[in-house]
Amino acid sequence: MIYLNIPLVNLKRQSDRLRDEIHASLDRVIDSGQFIMGDEEKTFEKEIASFVGTTYGIGVGNGTDALIMALRALNIGPGDEVITSPFTFFASAESISSVGATPVFVDISPDTYCMDVDMLYDAITPRTKAIIPVHIFGHMVDMKKLMEIAKARNLAVIEDACQAIGATQDCMRAGAIGDAGCFSFFPTKNLGGMGDGGMVVTNRKDMDDAVRMFRVHGSRRKYHNECIGYNSRLDELQAAILRVKLRYLSGWEKKRRYRARIYNEELKNLPIKLPIELDEYRHVYHLYVIGCDERDGLMSYLKDKGIGCGVYYPLPLHLLPVYRNLGYGIGRLKNAEGAAITTLAIPLCPELNDLEQEYVIDSIKEFYGVK
Ligand SMILES: *Cc1c(COP(=O)(O)O)cnc(C)c1O
Repeated sequence: MIYLNIPLVNLKRQSDRLRDEIHASLDRVIDSGQFIMGDEEKTFEKEIASFVGTTYGIGVGNGTDALIMALRALNIGPGDEVITSPFTFFASAESISSVGATPVFVDISPDTYCMDVDMLYDAITPRTKAIIPVHIFGHMVDMKKLMEIAKARNLAVIEDACQAIGATQDCMRAGAIGDAGCFSFFPTKNLGGMGDGGMVVTNRKDMDDAVRMFRVHGSRRKYHNECIGYNSRLDELQAAILRVKLRYLSGWEKKRRYRARIYNEELKNLPIKLPIELDEYRHVYHLYVIGCDERDGLMSYLKDKGIGCGVYYPLPLHLLPVYRNLGYGIGRLKNAEGAAITTLAIPLCPELNDLEQEYVIDSIKEFYGVK
């Protein structure tokens, strides 16, 4: 009997492979003496904008701040409602609350776990100002349909693309479709730094201008602060590291998709729900998430075998105590509530190898008594 220790995401292995290249780029920054808003960040902003297909990219401190500043750039605040998904990381809704607006949750599709765009109509009120679609786990929301609704109702759209850099729908990249797109470079994201980082991308000159102002204390000119802003930049060391990693992103994406195909094939006859990639979409598998009724049992079985797995997310946002005041209660958003108790992310990262994946697959089959 072999026993392997397999983390959900193997960052150590990735860092080891890139260590020399990263050291060289860190030296470059150290020698420059410029640590905030220098050439590395400027170049990285251009590289991400061109990768995503937008005119502008603005480096910021993290993905949450990217969302907050994009909302501020659209003048969203107290009295406004912003529609988002209840099945996502807290920051998608937290950013809305942070600017004083009210999050409104629309249930998800049980297939992709993304916002069910057909249910948007019922959530729109005269106070609705914007929609934040979340491309969860690396699969995009139906942006074609969402943009039609947004245009018809005159609503702004901020894509939460934190988990979906590189994902596409009809060849359009996540982040490039709405008024703005937000990315996180948190270490475990598909493009992750060695600390916090984020970016807003947009084709709108006015939003580029506003976010650039917000990230330096609301000033366009030093000491001439025009509004209450933030101190939220992507620092030079992170930008330098991310520039190294960006060169590997497409290759990593292919590996993620390759590993996902193997899981799909090997697990297809088990009583578990596999991730779906709809036609015309490209899933970038930030997480490989399966669904089953025995979720908790399977999770502890796998953990006992040394396999890292995790629940994203155990509580849909409308059931968090902090949002009890919004008045949703249990039973209102059934698909999100169902996903919260049935889904489990299993190891998948570009560094996962054949032996490890086979061990994960065999262990899952064992749990179901198939092997
Ligand atoms: C990671 C993440 C964020 C927040 O990004 P940070 O860089 O951690 O602030 C927001 N939304 C989603 C969907 C995320 O996965």
